Amino acid sequence: MLDELKDANGYIIGKIEEKDPLILEMEAFALEHNVPIVTKEVAKYLEFLVSTHNFKNILEIGTAIGYSGTIMGRIAKKNGGKLTTIEIDEVRYNQALENFKKGDLLDSINPILGDGVEEIKKLDEKFDFVFIDASKGHYMEFFNDSFERLSENGMIFIDNIMFRGYLYKEYPKRFKTIVRRLDEFITYLYRNHDFVLLPFGDGIGLVSNKVMK
Ligand code: SAH
Ligand code: MG
Repeated sequence: MLDELKDANGYIIGKIEEKDPLILEMEAFALEHNVPIVTKEVAKYLEFLVSTHNFKNILEIGTAIGYSGTIMGRIAKKNGGKLTTIEIDEVRYNQALENFKKGDLLDSINPILGDGVEEIKKLDEKFDFVFIDASKGHYMEFFNDSFERLSENGMIFIDNIMFRGYLYKEYPKRFKTIVRRLDEFITYLYRNHDFVLLPFGDGIGLVSNKVMK
């Protein structure tokens, strides 16, 4: 199962021809400095979802160097909206600012330096799309706070929800707590939300704002 998926993802990545210089530059930087940006097939899916739904007000938890932020920020800007993005690491936050500047996106981005767990709670607005891509141990918290702020017809995108496949195969014991929390999170989402789990990339969870009774 895993090998097949790995091959499928690899196949898709091999088919995607990227020409955008800023995107290529960020991909090379991430590879060189081990920054865990979304993989190419997931980046394309993210772009597809955000552009087909015309999402305007977007929230991201986990900016890193602004790679996914640039993809979503460009669409938000085109739609007359904005991207609010939270990063806990100051070095990465500053690298993201540089990249947003290069992409001429600073006027439609609200970058926040801080812990997503606390920063989301301070946001007094509704979001059409939320991209959760930060510390896995906090996914439930990020999710609940985002869901409260989700607009009608909004969508939450949870990246890396199957955590390197560790949710369904052998994994190093040090990840026990994260694996247990993510597994419980998935059970919780299926029971209480309009949720789909896609075995694509590193596992993607999508949640609509429909409340399940
Ligand atoms: N979304 C980015 C990649 C994010 S990597 C992209 O695809 O381009 C995850 C990032 O989340 C890291 O930069 C890490 O520093 C940050 N992070 C981890 N825990 C966090 C928290 N509690 N609040 C905000 N950011 C956090
Ligand atoms: Mg990710």
